[in-house]
Amino acid sequence: MEGHIYVSRTLTPKAMKLLDNLDYEVRVGGDEPPSREKLLEDVAGAAGAIVMLSEKIDEEFFDAAGPGLEVVANLAVGYDNIDLHEAKHRAVIVTNTPGVLTEATADLTFALLLATTRRVVESDYYARSGKPWIWGPNEYVGLDISAGATLGIYGLGRIGLAVARRAQAFGMRTIGYARHLVPGQELDGVHIVEPDELLQYSDVLTLHTPLTDETRHLIDAAAIAKMKKGAYIINAGRGGLIDELAMVDALKSGQLAGAGLDVFEGEPVIRPELRELPNVVVTPHIGSAGDKTREVMSKLCIDNVVSVLDGKAPLTQVPYP
Ligand code: NAP
Repeated sequence: MEGHIYVSRTLTPKAMKLLDNLDYEVRVGGDEPPSREKLLEDVAGAAGAIVMLSEKIDEEFFDAAGPGLEVVANLAVGYDNIDLHEAKHRAVIVTNTPGVLTEATADLTFALLLATTRRVVESDYYARSGKPWIWGPNEYVGLDISAGATLGIYGLGRIGLAVARRAQAFGMRTIGYARHLVPGQELDGVHIVEPDELLQYSDVLTLHTPLTDETRHLIDAAAIAKMKKGAYIINAGRGGLIDELAMVDALKSGQLAGAGLDVFEGEPVIRPELRELPNVVVTPHIGSAGDKTREVMSKLCIDNVVSVLDGKAPLTQVPYP
């Protein structure tokens, strides 16, 4: 076979050992994210590529790689960074990592939910500031999620349902919406509702749809206005699902009591207001960052690339549009 396997970032230690033992030539970018120029330079002539969600895989990338590129494995389940039409046009197979990061991402989602509703980060800042404090009945009061608060889940796939299981264990009422589910029915204890009802009845709204043309700015000023005053938003889906300016206004006015965010519209830049507002908890896109999860994700990417280059079917191909 002609061409190397290009890996844009250093993978986990076990995955690096797997790469060392492959029969293919492997070129790894490095620990730091490559500049766009370096990415395009290093992918030239590759037969397979393992890439990150932070890298735009578009016409320019495919041109730089050249006609020998057979497979691109995205180290993520979401693939909004990849131009699938262009991949299809060039018959390049695209793979992702579905399922293996579900529980880790649901854990992080729930960590954000608890941290935001119970004001953990805000009170941690205060406690470690050294300022005097005395226990008080009105200090750092947050939402009692276990007293039957309602969690609204937008997108009830693998991660949405895993978040529902955690919420139910905590005593939350769960409602949800996805396009192919029928309002009025139940799915794994989640009551299916119309999108407007989801907004209207949620004390906490959590987003788990992919980012597509249809879901971009799913939560905008109009959607926020339909929510309960003082509700919370959690987003461990993709930043583009929310119109951040509208969310900032609502966080300032009190229409939203708080937001827990793992993903942002301008990643890796986080809008200053979101970094400064005390009722916002931010994490730098670490949803799948569990130790075992990252090993399994990395291995799945390697297996996908090797499978295609060996002339076999990929394990987890993203369907072409
Ligand atoms: P999944 O199993 O495919 O679930 C996606 C859900 O979204 C499905 O229920 C789907 O149902 C629904 N959906 C799709 N388009 C919709 C629309 N226009 N309106 C309403 N619902 C819609 O995917 P998953 O594995 O749970 O992952 C979900 C997303 O989480 C990924 O795409 C990724 O962007 C994000 N993610 C983030 C992190 C992180 O690090 N923060 C980690 C992993 C994943 P219907 O098709 O019936 O609508």
